[in-house]
Amino acid sequence: MTTPTGLLLQPDIPICQSDIPLDWYQEPFKPYAEEYQALPDRRPATVFGYLDRYVTPALDHFGDSLLLLAHYYMGGEIVKLVERYGGSVADSYKLALVARNQPEKKVIVESAVHFMAESIALLANDDQDVWITNPKAGCTMEMMAKDYQVLPVFDQLEERFGDELVVVAYMNTSGRIKSLAGRTGGAVCTSSNAHLVVDWARKQNKKIVFVPDQHLGRNTAAKLGMDLARTHLLPDPSRGAIHLDKAELDRIADSEMILWASSCGVHTIFSGDMVRWWQERGWTVLVHPESPLDAVQAADGAGSTDYLWKAVANAAPGTRLVIGTEGHFVRNARELGKQNDVEVLHLADLPHDAVDPTGKPFATAGCGCATMSRNDPPHLAGMLDLLRKGEAPDINRVLAGDSIDEITMRRDRLPEDERQELITFARASLEQMIAIVEAAE
Ligand code: SF4
Repeated sequence: MTTPTGLLLQPDIPICQSDIPLDWYQEPFKPYAEEYQALPDRRPATVFGYLDRYVTPALDHFGDSLLLLAHYYMGGEIVKLVERYGGSVADSYKLALVARNQPEKKVIVESAVHFMAESIALLANDDQDVWITNPKAGCTMEMMAKDYQVLPVFDQLEERFGDELVVVAYMNTSGRIKSLAGRTGGAVCTSSNAHLVVDWARKQNKKIVFVPDQHLGRNTAAKLGMDLARTHLLPDPSRGAIHLDKAELDRIADSEMILWASSCGVHTIFSGDMVRWWQERGWTVLVHPESPLDAVQAADGAGSTDYLWKAVANAAPGTRLVIGTEGHFVRNARELGKQNDVEVLHLADLPHDAVDPTGKPFATAGCGCATMSRNDPPHLAGMLDLLRKGEAPDINRVLAGDSIDEITMRRDRLPEDERQELITFARASLEQMIAIVEAAE
C-alpha cells in the first residue's frame, strides 16, 4: 500500500491546469469535456460537484473492485481528487506494485503516462483490467526509445558484442524494452536503485546498455565512481534511424556503459549554475537524477520522487528547499511544506533578471510534465462513467506489450503468444531488480 500524500484539499484554491482544447478529446469523452468547460470556475468545490456526478455512481457500481491510481507528477489536483475518491498516488514503480498487491481490484484506472499504465498491466493478474484515462499521455523520454528505435540498434551491437551486453532498462520504458532487458539477463531500475542495478551489472564484466535516460545513466556511472570517458553516448534518436558505423562500434568496444540518448525535457533544463545561484542565497537544493550531471553534482542532494517528497515531509520547520524536478510535483510539495513551515521553491523559478556567470538568462521551465497532465478531470469522469456503462473505448485499455503512438493513437497490440513471452522476460527483468535491491538491504 502507498501512504497518503498528506496533501489537503482546499475548496477555494483554483485547480492548476489549463483546459485542453475540445478537439483533443476522444469522441466519447467530448460530452464530459464540454460540460466541464462550461463550469463557472475551476475551484475544487465546483469541480467536485461535476466529478461526483460520474465518479460516485462508478464507485457504487464497482465497489471494492475499482482502484484509482495517479502519479505524483499529475497536475490539475488530480492527485488530490484521486485520493479523495480512495485512490492511491505514488511513483511509477509503486503504482505497479499497488495494483499487483491488491488482487481484489479488478478495474484499475490510471491517471498518468502510458508506460506507467503498461507497467501496472505487466505485473497485474489476468483478471485485472488496466485503463488509462488518456492514451495520448506519453512520457517524452520513453517516446524517444520505442522498440522500433532501440531494437535495430541493439541488433547492431549484438552482432558485434554478442553476450558481452546486458541491458538495464529504466522504469520509464515500454514493456518491450523491459523484455529486451530480461532477454539479455539484465534488469529494470528506478531512479532510487539505479546505482545498485548498474553495480550488479558491472560485476558481471558486461557492457551495460542503459536505456533510455542518458542523464540517469551518466549520473549513476558518476555515483559509482566509473570513468565517464568510458561511457558512450549513442546518436540522438530524434534525428532518425541510427546506424552504427565501424568507427563508432570500435569506440564502443572501449566503453563500459552505452547510453541511449533520450532524456526528459522537464529535467534537462537544470544546470549547475542554477543550483549554485540558489545555494549562494542560502537555499538547500535537491534535484532528481534525470537532471544533467553538473546540476546533480552541484546539488546538496539528488534522488527519486519518493526521496524528494520525503525530504519535504521530514524537513525541520524553517528549512528552505529548492527542488529541481517536475513542476506539478514541486507545487504539491510546496503545499505539503507549508503545513510544517518549510519553504519550497522550484529550481527554475528564478527572478526574471537572474543570469548565469556568463551573463546569459537562465532557461525557464513550463508548468511541468505537459503530456502527463493530459489526464484532466473530464478524462477521469468520462473514463469512469463509460466503464460503468460498459462503453469504454478499447484504445483506453492497456495490455502488456501494447505500443502506442501517442500522437496518432495508433496502437500495435501483440498476438497472445508473443505477449506472454514478453511478460515472461519483462517480469524477469523486474524480478531481477527486486532481487538486487533485496540483496543490498
Ligand atoms: S516528467 Fe519527464 S520522465 Fe517523467 S513522465 Fe514526464 S516526460 Fe517522462
